[in-house]
Amino acid sequence: MDTKKRVVIIGAGTAGLCAAKHSIAAGMDVTVFEQMSQPGGTWVYSEDIGKDKYGLQVHTSMYRGLRTNLPKEIMGYPDFPIPGEGVSYIPAEEMLAFLQSYAKSFGVNSHINFNHHVIRVRPVGQPDGPHTWEVMVKDLPSDEVHTYTFDFVFVCNGHYHTPFLARYPGQDDFKGRIQHSHDYRCPEPYKGQAVLVIGAGPSGMDIAYDISKCAVRVTLSHHLPEQPKTIFPNNVTQRPDPVRFTADGAIFKDGTSEQFDVILYCTGYRYTFPFLSVDCGISVEENFVQPLYKHCVNINYPTMGFAGLPFYVCACQMIDLQVRFCVKLWSGGVPMPSQKEMMADTQREMEERFQKRGYKKRHAHMMGPDQGKYYADLAECAGLVPLKPVITKLHNESSQKFLDDLTNFRNEVYKIIDDETFVQVK
Ligand SMILES: Cc1cc2nc3c(=O)[nH]c(=O)nc-3n(C[C@H](O)[C@H](O)[C@H](O)COP(=O)(O)OP(=O)(O)OC[C@H]3O[C@@H](n4cnc5c(N)ncnc54)[C@H](O)[C@@H]3O)c2cc1C
Repeated sequence: MDTKKRVVIIGAGTAGLCAAKHSIAAGMDVTVFEQMSQPGGTWVYSEDIGKDKYGLQVHTSMYRGLRTNLPKEIMGYPDFPIPGEGVSYIPAEEMLAFLQSYAKSFGVNSHINFNHHVIRVRPVGQPDGPHTWEVMVKDLPSDEVHTYTFDFVFVCNGHYHTPFLARYPGQDDFKGRIQHSHDYRCPEPYKGQAVLVIGAGPSGMDIAYDISKCAVRVTLSHHLPEQPKTIFPNNVTQRPDPVRFTADGAIFKDGTSEQFDVILYCTGYRYTFPFLSVDCGISVEENFVQPLYKHCVNINYPTMGFAGLPFYVCACQMIDLQVRFCVKLWSGGVPMPSQKEMMADTQREMEERFQKRGYKKRHAHMMGPDQGKYYADLAECAGLVPLKPVITKLHNESSQKFLDDLTNFRNEVYKIIDDETFVQVK
C-alpha cells in the first residue's frame, strides 16, 4: 500500500486473528477491538451463561469436553497447520491454544485492545467517493467511550452467539425448562430428567449424545430427510418435528407425544451485527446478509469486509482466503469491480441457489458441497494461492462420518499425504 491505511478489526476469534495477520503483512495500520479479555472467540470456554460481568451477553457457545467435529488436519490455517500426530479430533482447549499460538507467532496480540466492545460503526463520506469509518468503542473496565477513524473495516464478530429460537404453538404452556444450546455447558444438570432436543445439526446431534450420559431419556426431534445412521445409546429416541408443546411435554408430527422436563433448542443462531449503523447498507433477512460480493465484501461500501460468514466450511482455511481476497482488492492488487458488477455476480449466484436449487434464504451462505467451487472462485478472481483440494475432500469424508457414526468417528485419525490425497491411519 502507498500510504499506511488504517484498518479496524472487530473481534479476535478465528477470523479476526487471521484478518489482523494478513493486514499487518500488507503493511496496514492494524487495530483490533475484542470485548473479551483474551483471543480465541467462541473457543474460549466459560461456565457463565447469560450476561458477563460487564452486562454483555456471554459470547461463547462452547461446552465442556467438546472435541472438534472436523479433523485438525483441515482445521488449521493454510500457512499455519495444527501441530501433532495421533489424534485428529482435538479437544476445544487445544484449538484455543492453537489460535493463541497463531496470534503470538504473527505478532497479532500487540494490536488487540482487549475488553473493548464496539458499539457503533458508521461510514462518513460517499460510498463511491472518499469515505472513512467512524468506530465508537467502549473500554469496558473504565466504562469510557471513544471514537476512532479508519479506512477499512473487517467485521469478524462470529455467528454462533445469538440464539435462533423457533416458536411453537403452546410454548407458553410448557411448565418445564426451555433452553438453547448456546447455554449448554455439561450434562450433569440433566441427571434423571427427560429432555427433548430440537434440531439435528452438529450441535443437536452432539448434545443429544452428551446429555444421554446423565438424562433418563432423550428425544432428538428433527426433519432430516434421512435418519442419521448413527447408533445412539438406548435412552435416545428420534422423532419428527414437534407440532405443539403442552404443559408437560410435546406432540410430534407423527401424532406421538411425550413428557419432558427440559426442552433444549438446538435450532441454530442468528447472524447479527448490532454495531453496524443503517448507513452501512447491510441488512440481514433470515440469515441472508446482503448485499455482499462473494459472501465477504459489502457492495454498498466495499471498504468493509466480512470474514467467516459461510457455514459448513473449513473455517480457518476459508477465512484465510476471504481475508486475502479483501486485502488484495483493498490494496489495488486487483481492481475492485464496480458496484454494478458485484451486484450482478451476487444476483447470479443467489438466483442459482434460490430459484434453481430451491434453497431457503437461511441457506444463502451455506457451502457444504459448494465449498470447493467457492474457494476456487475466490482464488481465481483475485489471483490468490488456492486452497488444496485435499482440504475439501477430507471435509466431505468427515462430515459424512459425523452423520453415520457420531459415537465413534472422533477416534479416527487422518494424515494428509499431498495436495490431493489423505489417508485414514486409524
Ligand atoms: C459449540 C461449537 C462447536 C464448534 N465446533 C467446530 C469444529 O469442531 N470445527 C470447526 O471448524 N468449527 C467449529 N465451530 C465453528 C466456529 O465457531 C468457527 O470455526 C470459528 O471459530 C468462528 O470464528 P469467528 O472468528 O468467526 O467467530 P468467534 O469465534 O465467535 O469470534 C468472534 C469474536 O468477536 C468478538 N466480538 C463480537 N462482537 C464484538 C463487539 N461488538 N466488540 C468487540 N468484540 C466483539 C467476540 O468476543 C469473539 O471473540 C464450532 C462452533 C460452536 C459454537
